[in-house]
Amino acid sequence: MQGIGINELNQRLTEPRSKDELHQLTQSFNRLIQRLQGGVDQLKQFVSDASHELRTPVATIEGHANLIKRWGKDSKEVLNESIDYITSEAQRMTHLTNQLLQLAYLEQNQPLHSFEPSEVISVIHDIQHQLSPLHDRIELTSDTYSHAILAGIPADILQQILLNVVGNAIKYSPSGECIHIAVDQTSQDVYIHVTDAGIGIPAEELPYIFDRFYRVDKSRSREYGGTGLGLAITKRLAESYSGEITVQSIIDKGSTFTIRLPLETEHELISA
Ligand code: ADP
Repeated sequence: MQGIGINELNQRLTEPRSKDELHQLTQSFNRLIQRLQGGVDQLKQFVSDASHELRTPVATIEGHANLIKRWGKDSKEVLNESIDYITSEAQRMTHLTNQLLQLAYLEQNQPLHSFEPSEVISVIHDIQHQLSPLHDRIELTSDTYSHAILAGIPADILQQILLNVVGNAIKYSPSGECIHIAVDQTSQDVYIHVTDAGIGIPAEELPYIFDRFYRVDKSRSREYGGTGLGLAITKRLAESYSGEITVQSIIDKGSTFTIRLPLETEHELISA
């Protein structure tokens, strides 16, 4: 009776053919209710987490607006500092709201539109280029890829995934250590490994870091401009294209995030 819809269940529950069928129908009904309850609970948690996250920047903005009201006329220093805070918190709220909207969209499992596969190495070069003002040591471990590697994911989505993972690698490598990106492939999949020698993640926290709003160290992450949503979005994006993201990490030694994506095989390989 798995996969039976609510309307059919209702209909059959009114006229069960046997005691056995009534029992099975009741069990299906209970399972359905449990699933719905799970969905409602998740939604409640999402709304409560989101409001909690938005409350902090709102409180900061309110506090600085009050400072301006009281001291702004007398002190240029207070005025400028508070305006800076208000601007950066407003930007943070915009970023957070955009991330929340994207996550809500991804969690509805929207059907995917048709798309062009992406060429992995050129997307990595784009990322290196985009991030180079922030960090000049993002190295593609081997630059001798002699052919195009096509992944079954649109280039802009792969870019978003990599920007987030490489961005985190930079953020959580405070001494400016080098970030390595390596690519390998099997007959079916392409693997992109992003390795940093940064602060690492404690083993007991690893199972949770792809959960939304999860941050290993809330105050530290906030200091770096983190929201705790980036990896949750990244995971759902990879999964939307039949991929996945995994992590290995050792505290104080660094982390490797591996993104697996389906290899696009119909296209001919380009020789170097
Ligand atoms: P944030 O916006 O806080 O960076 P993410 O969802 O991207 O949120 O990451 C969740 C948490 O995982 C981060 O707050 C951080 O504690 C941890 N994390 C992610 N990437 C790394 C990394 N490369 N090194 C160490 N910790 C990391």
